[in-house]
Amino acid sequence: MAAPQSLTPSPVESRPRGPRHPAATGAESRRGLVTRARRMARTLAVAYPEAYCELTFRSPFQLLVATVLSAQCTDVRVNQVTPELFRRFPDAHAMAAASLVEIEEIIRPTGFFRAKAANIHALSTQLVEHWDGEVPSRLEDLVALPGVGRKTANVVLGNAFDTPGLTIDTHFGRLARRWKWTESEDPVQVEKEVGEIIPRPEWTVLSHRIIFHGRRVCHSRRPACGACFLAADCPSFGLGPTDPGTAADLVKGENRTELLRLAGIEEEAQ
Ligand code: SF4
Repeated sequence: MAAPQSLTPSPVESRPRGPRHPAATGAESRRGLVTRARRMARTLAVAYPEAYCELTFRSPFQLLVATVLSAQCTDVRVNQVTPELFRRFPDAHAMAAASLVEIEEIIRPTGFFRAKAANIHALSTQLVEHWDGEVPSRLEDLVALPGVGRKTANVVLGNAFDTPGLTIDTHFGRLARRWKWTESEDPVQVEKEVGEIIPRPEWTVLSHRIIFHGRRVCHSRRPACGACFLAADCPSFGLGPTDPGTAADLVKGENRTELLRLAGIEEEAQ
């Protein structure tokens, strides 16, 4: 991997960062938090303008099933099994008529396949019996389906029905806590607190952008702090390597060069 050629000083570099950030010391006001969070959301929008749901689907039903499959599994792996699953069982009627064994065999690579197959079969049966095979578009109706929690319901609402929803998955929760947007480990509480500082129309796309950042830069074990374009606003700066060269090697993704450039790092052409 090419070494960083230069580090362009950011105009905000003189602000206290990491443990000295007001959000880390407890000195940040509510107004300060809201201003900072919205500024971070705008920066994320510059970095990930095209952030989208990385699951492949053609209908609300397929998105619902793909999201159930994505529990404890990567979207990439889910996308490897759903083409065959949806080729054979494209809608709730077909899935409800399938045998559990047939579903299990196809979705086995996604892990926890017995429980997931049972949920997919049961939710499809309920959709056929109560919703004429259609997926309901209200949160309270979605979470009443087998295996469907608030996270899954919000993914479906936001991406299949254009109803804003915050998707609190493992990445979102981790980053929101690192940014001191919340202290809570409870996804419902995280959703409530973030929903109070970010305008509703931005919820769905912001969820994608935070998840993108969690996958590409702010990793669970070694966040790329020294190559992170949010460093100036992050009270957890320093959790990962702060050396730009070391951190740059941790940044992933197809728009990696762009992400590094936003952080002030220009890499030499290969
Ligand atoms: S990578 Fe580091 S600086 Fe960037 S958001 Fe994560 S913890 Fe903060």
